[in-house]
Amino acid sequence: MHLVLPLVPLFVFDFFYYWHHRLQHRIPVLWEQHKLHHTERSLNCLTNLRHHWLEEPMRVFTITIPLAALIHVTPVPATLVGSLLAYWSIFFHANLRLPLGPLTPLLTGPQHHRIHHSRQPEHRDKNFAAFFPVWDLLFGTYCRAKPGEWPATGLFEEERRATLSDAVIGPFAAWATHLRATSSRPSSTRRVRGTFP
Ligand SMILES: [Zn+2]
Ligand SMILES: [Zn+2]
Repeated sequence: MHLVLPLVPLFVFDFFYYWHHRLQHRIPVLWEQHKLHHTERSLNCLTNLRHHWLEEPMRVFTITIPLAALIHVTPVPATLVGSLLAYWSIFFHANLRLPLGPLTPLLTGPQHHRIHHSRQPEHRDKNFAAFFPVWDLLFGTYCRAKPGEWPATGLFEEERRATLSDAVIGPFAAWATHLRATSSRPSSTRRVRGTFP
């Protein structure tokens, strides 16, 4: 029991991470911030670090604060969650041809997360959970890779590689473009939700 208890914060963390991540793919304004992570065309153990610098500040509001409000996390489980997140994320982004077999629906591995980064249309918006695919199973976004399936990865819509400028100010430039496009449109044609075209 003492071994399982520290995993509870990790499980709850993954619930909030699932929705944080799913909304990043669902809401165009958030996608502009997240898509840097998906520009990687050769997944490797460093891909986990390919996030825009706003990623961690945003997670404070969407994951850390709700998690702290829901359960009392003491320093030891908090450290455990942070360490497992860091190391497991390195593992499932690694360029490893390592299927997890019967553990696939239980734990995220390199093949499972590769489906999330896949450029195949049938893999779009699948496998959002960081650790426990059960969240994808519950919310209808689970996609199990076929045996031997290791699809090409990268963005669907863009061929060019990300630049340093994209990494630093890319979302701000996209948001500014969107605002200019919105303000130049007649008010009767503006969208209410503030999402991109
Ligand atoms: Zn993603
Ligand atoms: Zn990833």
